[in-house]
Amino acid sequence: MDPSSPPGERCPDAMWEICGGSEALQGAVQVMALSSASACVDVGYLCAALETADSLQLWQWPESTRRLRVRVPLPSGLAPACARELQGAVVRGIQYWQRRPFELAIDTHPTPSVEVDIEISWEEGLSGSQIGLIHTKASLDQFEVLGITLATLSPNLKYGRTPEEVPLTAAHEMGHALGLPHSDSHRDVVYPTNTARSLTPRDFRTVEPLYRLPNGARIRRGP
Ligand SMILES: [Zn+2]
Repeated sequence: MDPSSPPGERCPDAMWEICGGSEALQGAVQVMALSSASACVDVGYLCAALETADSLQLWQWPESTRRLRVRVPLPSGLAPACARELQGAVVRGIQYWQRRPFELAIDTHPTPSVEVDIEISWEEGLSGSQIGLIHTKASLDQFEVLGITLATLSPNLKYGRTPEEVPLTAAHEMGHALGLPHSDSHRDVVYPTNTARSLTPRDFRTVEPLYRLPNGARIRRGP
């Protein structure tokens, strides 16, 4: 991206990172060990990390999960119309994952009325070139999203994103919130930078096998 782009100019080739941090908490219970030859067949990009790592671990929401409650508040510090537009765009991005695999109940009320599973928060800008981040914590008993933070302003661009950038950033973080790792194809929404133009069949083909594999499964590269 040309950093001298005037505010408001669209920049469809902009490459910003969409990243996150996670903590894996392992208890005394042994996780299931699987080989990539058996576990990584027709699983989208679920095993993409094995291109560079010897093993990976998958975490997911417990089997008893039926519905996830997600709160998307209005961002503050913006004109009301812009704030509503951003909020609506994030809701749209999260809805891409509706019933894939869980029912999603999205709360946009100004005052939180119920406890939620996933809380979105807003920052004017995130560190470096990030536009979204997620912090998760996982163990065999629990998958917890400690928070998703989205930037209200793009670096150097102010409020002048491409129309689909906000929903796709929200969809990227929601993919992680379901347990998805990064994709190895720039077309998929869970690719590390915002190069996707939509969610792809491969995004959906990756979340299905995740929920067929045992929670906490460690997959090692090899036969
Ligand atoms: Zn990411």
